[in-house]
Amino acid sequence: MMKLKGFLVVAVLLGIASLGFAFFGQSVKADTRPNILFIMSDDHAYQALSCYGSRVNETPNLDRIASEGMRFDRCFVTNSICGPCRATILTGKYSHLNGFVRNGNQFDGAQQNVAKLLRAAGYETAVIGKWHLKTEPTGFDYWNVLIGQGPYYNPPMKTAQGDDPSQVIKREGYTTDVITDLTLDWLQQRSDDQPFFLMYQHKAPHRNWQPGPKYLTKYDDVTIPEPETLFDDYSGRASPARQQTMTIRDHLTPRDLKLVPPPGLTDEQRAAWDAAYGPKNLAFEEAQLKGVDLIKWKYQRYVKDYLRCVASVDDNVGRVLDYLDETGLAENTIVIYTSDQGWYLGEHGWYDKRWMYEESFRTPLMIRWPGKIEPGSVNDDMVMNLDFAQTFLEAAGEPDPEEMQGESFLPILQGQTPDDWRTSVYYHYYEFPGAHSVRRHYGVRDERYKLIHYYHVGEWELFDLNKDPQEMRSVYAEAAYEPVKARMLAELNRLREYYGDDNTIRGKVDPPPKKKQNR
Ligand code: CA
Repeated sequence: MMKLKGFLVVAVLLGIASLGFAFFGQSVKADTRPNILFIMSDDHAYQALSCYGSRVNETPNLDRIASEGMRFDRCFVTNSICGPCRATILTGKYSHLNGFVRNGNQFDGAQQNVAKLLRAAGYETAVIGKWHLKTEPTGFDYWNVLIGQGPYYNPPMKTAQGDDPSQVIKREGYTTDVITDLTLDWLQQRSDDQPFFLMYQHKAPHRNWQPGPKYLTKYDDVTIPEPETLFDDYSGRASPARQQTMTIRDHLTPRDLKLVPPPGLTDEQRAAWDAAYGPKNLAFEEAQLKGVDLIKWKYQRYVKDYLRCVASVDDNVGRVLDYLDETGLAENTIVIYTSDQGWYLGEHGWYDKRWMYEESFRTPLMIRWPGKIEPGSVNDDMVMNLDFAQTFLEAAGEPDPEEMQGESFLPILQGQTPDDWRTSVYYHYYEFPGAHSVRRHYGVRDERYKLIHYYHVGEWELFDLNKDPQEMRSVYAEAAYEPVKARMLAELNRLREYYGDDNTIRGKVDPPPKKKQNR
């Protein structure tokens, strides 16, 4: 009864407020809450963004978000693999609590998520592009998503339309362009009297890195610099680093290397593809490379295709930023750019992700919010994808949900890092056995050290990131590091308890533990 009364009071006050706005003129908007445009690509390494100092490419449009906003140099993920990162971003919970611990799981769409909360708060919500959580999106007024990974060309996309809860429409064109076209369509037809929360999510530059028609021959006449650790022999680490199956040397397929064309191209697309790759493949066959030369060739082939895919993402994000400028929406729209996780661009001889090593543990994050975020600012506080949901909710003026495990970093965006902000991050990767054979591990990283436990094989690693930023040599067995080891182990145990991780996947069943002692 009290609740009903409270509701009536609020409803009356809102009514009076909206009458007031109507009285003072049509141009006054009742709702000044910011729009939230969440742009996410898939597997985009921070090493391939010029705002992060890329040695290998230029990303002028994406750089705009950093130069007009804030770049985060320490944004970490909870579990570096596609689906689990998406589930964490939506729920604000670690994998063991949202139930999506590895690709192939089914996301429990009945649980709370940030889109549902923003929608309930009066936001118009949409997700367009890659979803990759098996079950259909929940919490969105509109969704139009790829099916599973989705192809790079001519993607079938699933949407709810009219009476049909899941209609599949095949779109012709390059997927990065198609997703952007649909996004611009939605922005044009959305409701003007509600703020929006839009998740615009690219498939690119996910494996197997198929460039769009515009960039099939970009980089053909240049040599991309190699990372220093391309020929890592893994001798300084525990056995899992040697046992993985994600090397450029041995684990790229003919399809990855474009020695065979992709299926599903139209005649026109196929002709463009053959014109670009035919001469390149002939040159390779004639060279008959072996050993180190072959690895170097594979690296060039892999990284160039990857960067070509990034170039299309950059172009397309530019189209959306231009739209925001032209319509005046830019002024009151928070624009976020991130990737679902980080990625190896040949570092340690690898492609792919999964590890708690820096390249895959960290993900790019740039955020622009005119008038609120200092343009060109750079931040190195430890933030996480776990925090995104709560940050968006606070920006929208919504309360912090008790069940979410992150922290809003809105104060950091405004240049005010809280005194008690977190100084360590917890990580847990599960997908073994699985693609690329990376052993399960959990660990903790603080400002200087990283402790990793491969708990199924009983091995540990400890890295001193000040002395060894490339993580080439574990110091776990060195006597001088005993005090550090003890301290990091205590911190690991504290965080495992704090986040309620006892290796049990609880998913939708149990309530999560209490929060609020760990920034
Ligand atoms: Ca991914």
